[in-house]
Amino acid sequence: MLNWLKNLSPKQHSHQAEKPAAATNKLGATIIARDQHPISRKWISDSALKVMYRLNNANHDAYLVGGAVRDLLLGGHPKDFDIATDATPEQVRALFSNSRIIGRRFQIVHVRFGREIIEVTTFRGHHPEGDDTTHPKTSKSAKSVKSAEGMLLRDNVYGTVEEDALRRDLTVNALYYSVKDFAVHDYCHAMDDLSNKVIRMIGEPAQRYREDPVRMLRVIRFAAKLGFQLHNDTAKPLKSMAELLYSIPSARLFDEVLKLFMSGHAVKTFQLLCEHQLFEKLFPQSNTLKQQDAHAQTLIEQAFANTDSRINEGKPVTPAFIYAALLWPSVREEIKSHDLQKMPPMAAFHEAANRVIQQQQQHTAIPKRFQIPMREIWELQQRLPKNGGKRAQKLFQHPRFRAAYDFLLLREQAGEISPGLGDWWTEYQVQNKAPDRTQHSAEDGHTQNMYRKPRKRSNRSRNNSFQARRP
Ligand code: ATP
Ligand code: MG
Repeated sequence: MLNWLKNLSPKQHSHQAEKPAAATNKLGATIIARDQHPISRKWISDSALKVMYRLNNANHDAYLVGGAVRDLLLGGHPKDFDIATDATPEQVRALFSNSRIIGRRFQIVHVRFGREIIEVTTFRGHHPEGDDTTHPKTSKSAKSVKSAEGMLLRDNVYGTVEEDALRRDLTVNALYYSVKDFAVHDYCHAMDDLSNKVIRMIGEPAQRYREDPVRMLRVIRFAAKLGFQLHNDTAKPLKSMAELLYSIPSARLFDEVLKLFMSGHAVKTFQLLCEHQLFEKLFPQSNTLKQQDAHAQTLIEQAFANTDSRINEGKPVTPAFIYAALLWPSVREEIKSHDLQKMPPMAAFHEAANRVIQQQQQHTAIPKRFQIPMREIWELQQRLPKNGGKRAQKLFQHPRFRAAYDFLLLREQAGEISPGLGDWWTEYQVQNKAPDRTQHSAEDGHTQNMYRKPRKRSNRSRNNSFQARRP
């Protein structure tokens, strides 16, 4: 545990005496003063600081919130810097010429500084049953809309900072840092959970999952990323509510899958998703096969282990490779179907790939820009064994050769095919000049930028004062 967390005395960490918990839903904040926590402004993006100062100067409240506060307290590098404020989106928009309001379901403001985007959200409030515009700051068009199942289709009811904290997902994601007092404000015992390494859904977990089933995936993602334990109450409804994921648009689930498996903790994430029966709702075909076929399970696990190592070594990764591994056992199985057995092998392979992709798309979208390299990785598995004469050179020049070769090694490691061909290709590459890797890395899909929207600039790539920080 981090020393500062360990040393936080119960007195400093207890809820403030002068701000007792209100009777209904309003918690008093615990204020962790500057000398009681390690967050320094030099670890915060200059752009985020600029946004907070300008909002404060215009008499608005503004806090750094969410993952940035959590990660800074844990000594890590935040992925991005999100701000919460009492200013409405229109008021934020008026303060920053470099901003625009985005989203319908959940309106936020993006303030752009070069390639960096600071996301500014207005404090969310409670949702009065049957009413959606009771808060005075809620504009006419900004409403909360729920489906018959209780899913929040729109959440634009504004409120106070305390209410905002209770609308967030996990306690550890609901910490607020202010540049007015440089203190961390804790409205839901988040510091206890941070120090005890607990992932706890705020409020009544079943209701929070019903409002937004993606929260179930977020619970797993943060448990894996932070190495925290799920609180029993948070974990308990997962299995029975997992089916709610079927109601989430496949495009949103694709984005979530990337976050789940491309953050350097895919092995742990996969294990937790399986344990809580969520994986089968995202990848039903892969789940069935991994239960029937030990090679399929090993292949998927090994693909995740390789992805984690690549990310942790700073090497690029692509969703195409991960999806190729997740769906490959299904393609192999599909080829065995009676009707495909009658077709020429390559035609059967393409038909099997079509069917598997089509089925998967009912659950998570697979954008064309990843489908194409994924299919090529698969197709090259049929061609890599035919390496006689000039064919080897041609395959070697293929833009997807490197990814296909890695995939071949993966299949050998998983015991799906016997070793030998992988060694042959390893030796071939030693004997022959490797094609220009920079060109290849851009083409073979081994690049994170292919899937990243140019949203927020990562800490590592920024040349700011906080870059020098070491956890
Ligand atoms: P990271 O950016 O490191 O993945 P994060 O905690 O910042 O983690 P974001 O997805 O950037 O996660 O979201 C920012 C914050 O918004 C979260 O910390 C959380 O407080 C809130 N949040 C995001 N998604 C939800 C959700 N589905 N329900 C409730 N609150 C959410
Ligand atoms: Mg974030």
